[in-house]
Amino acid sequence: MSYHAIVLGLGAMGSAAACQLASRCSSTGKKILGLDRFHPPHTFGSSHGETRVIRQAYFEHPDYVPLLKTCYDRWHRLEHDYGDTLLQQTGALMIGPENSDVVAGSLRAAREHGLPHQLLDAAELRRRYPVLRPPAGTMALYEEVAGALAPESCITAHLEAAAQAGAELHFSERVESWTADPGRDGVTVRTSAGTYQAEHLVLAAGAWMPDLLYSAGSTEESRLQADRKVLLWLEPEGGERGFMPHEFPIWVWEPEGEYAFYGFPALDGRGGGVKAGLHTNRDDCHADELDRDVHGEDAEALYKLLRQFIPRLDGEILHSTVCMYTHTPDDHFLLGPHPDHAQVTVAGGFSGHGFKFSVLVGEIVADLVLEGKTTHPIGLFAPDRFR
Ligand SMILES: Cc1cc2nc3c(=O)[nH]c(=O)nc-3n(C[C@H](O)[C@H](O)[C@H](O)COP(=O)(O)OP(=O)(O)OC[C@H]3O[C@@H](n4cnc5c(N)ncnc54)[C@H](O)[C@@H]3O)c2cc1C
Repeated sequence: MSYHAIVLGLGAMGSAAACQLASRCSSTGKKILGLDRFHPPHTFGSSHGETRVIRQAYFEHPDYVPLLKTCYDRWHRLEHDYGDTLLQQTGALMIGPENSDVVAGSLRAAREHGLPHQLLDAAELRRRYPVLRPPAGTMALYEEVAGALAPESCITAHLEAAAQAGAELHFSERVESWTADPGRDGVTVRTSAGTYQAEHLVLAAGAWMPDLLYSAGSTEESRLQADRKVLLWLEPEGGERGFMPHEFPIWVWEPEGEYAFYGFPALDGRGGGVKAGLHTNRDDCHADELDRDVHGEDAEALYKLLRQFIPRLDGEILHSTVCMYTHTPDDHFLLGPHPDHAQVTVAGGFSGHGFKFSVLVGEIVADLVLEGKTTHPIGLFAPDRFR
């Protein structure tokens, strides 16, 4: 069976790519095939756990800001087509010493792009958000447009739209290897169920990208690394009062000399707890050998920070889950043509901050596959930059 394009992986990025490709090919007779080893949305990769932060004053690099502005527009469009809320605006605080990456980086992005924001000192933070205990010298950038995406619903919305536009989606079918056909514009993909041919291949395998970035037989090293991340839902001491969405925003906090940690307001209301996790710790792993159990020492690393900075979150764990980041050496994405094969497009290495972009990644992948270029600024993400 032959297709115009095969999308390998139907998580956050692959579902969006399949949706865009199928919609744009629906009247042309070009067939799109999507393959996933599980049935997304699922809890085995990088896109589960109820919420993902979206924000614009992007401390990681100001070049993300134009993309983020487009993302807001595209999420609202998808929300409209899907008929249910995907993005809940909550506001967010980027907290730390003035010269921390989180504070200085957000401020730089906000200033370079003229984004509305407020700067709060420790006293003002304590006054507005009495549950926080910022040490003297702490600063925070508050951004009102920040909010939370519902990742499982976003993936469902993209997969439903892809299927409606005629994409063929195969679940519980594992890709074993792929090869780019020399001398012609094509690829061959071998799975647990068969062999497929296509003109283009999109690699969107999340934490499994280290094994799949290069074709069968290549000795090239991917330079991608999966990293185990633990999420906890904590019962605040004294209940959710003070953490409810009308009085408390998302936070990312980088205390002096500590890991950055983050969390959400109590979006599930009373009894639902407050979700929090560590961001910059490293626990490198292989996606097939991930330890999915949460241990005492996992929780302790987060509790240590919470006891000091948000002490009421030193409460019971209501539930927990394990997720994976997939790092590149510089923590910027891999998005663009494959270093070796023009007929292969790479969407991987999202380094723990990709979800908010997935709706636009789908559009960019479709541009690259169908037009060979995109007008969106993706220069920071060139997949061949580590060569
Ligand atoms: C704890 C945590 C918190 C995060 N917080 C944020 C946040 O607040 N904001 C934000 O923007 N981002 C955040 N991220 C990052 C973001 O969620 C990821 O960048 C994004 O979800 C990655 O999407 P993906 O499509 O690459 O991976 P996935 O959604 O995991 O999809 C990859 C898919 O490929 C499939 N696959 C893999 N191998 C094969 C194979 N051999 N054959 C067939 N299918 C295969 C998998 O089954 C999977 O469905 C967070 C991530 C984690 C883990």
